[in-house]
Amino acid sequence: MTLLSEILKYNKQYVENKEYEKYQTTKFPDKKMVILTCMDTRLVELLPQAMNVKNGDVKLIKNAGAIVSHPFGSVMRSILVAIYELGAKEVSIVGHHGCGMKGLEADSFLEKCGQAGLDEEIIKTLTNAGIDIKSWLTGFQSVEESVEQSVKMVKNHPMFPKNIHVHGLVICAETGKLDVVVDGYQS
Ligand SMILES: [Zn+2]
Repeated sequence: MTLLSEILKYNKQYVENKEYEKYQTTKFPDKKMVILTCMDTRLVELLPQAMNVKNGDVKLIKNAGAIVSHPFGSVMRSILVAIYELGAKEVSIVGHHGCGMKGLEADSFLEKCGQAGLDEEIIKTLTNAGIDIKSWLTGFQSVEESVEQSVKMVKNHPMFPKNIHVHGLVICAETGKLDVVVDGYQS
């Protein structure tokens, strides 16, 4: 049995047993917060529990590293949608210790691509087309600095409302302990 067929089999039962009923809510975040965090497996359940966030409480955006890397990319758009369309009033950017994006190096990443069979010519073509693959595939050195930088990117966005607080946090992926890097009420 494939993983997908296992999921579908489970899902059929889940829906039939109406196990969804306890999760029913709306698309509007009750706590009026949008959280950007990392896709790390350890945070799937730990982060919402450690932050006391339940279904319906927040809008949750995830990517590798909890990074806002581009002012007009999909993460920034999601944050703006959460605010203007869905009523979020605060943003929390939550990086974590032991993140896979810490120390990510383009050269070793590209080596893995090569080992997986990616033709080097493709990388050359992309580079010649002006795409900066190397910096795109480079992670951060310090999670705190990365969070701070993402907070700045959000706050300085020309379309970002001035009255919205942006917090920067770092969570421990083992214990769920949160440390404040940027207190959005103070800045
Ligand atoms: Zn991570």
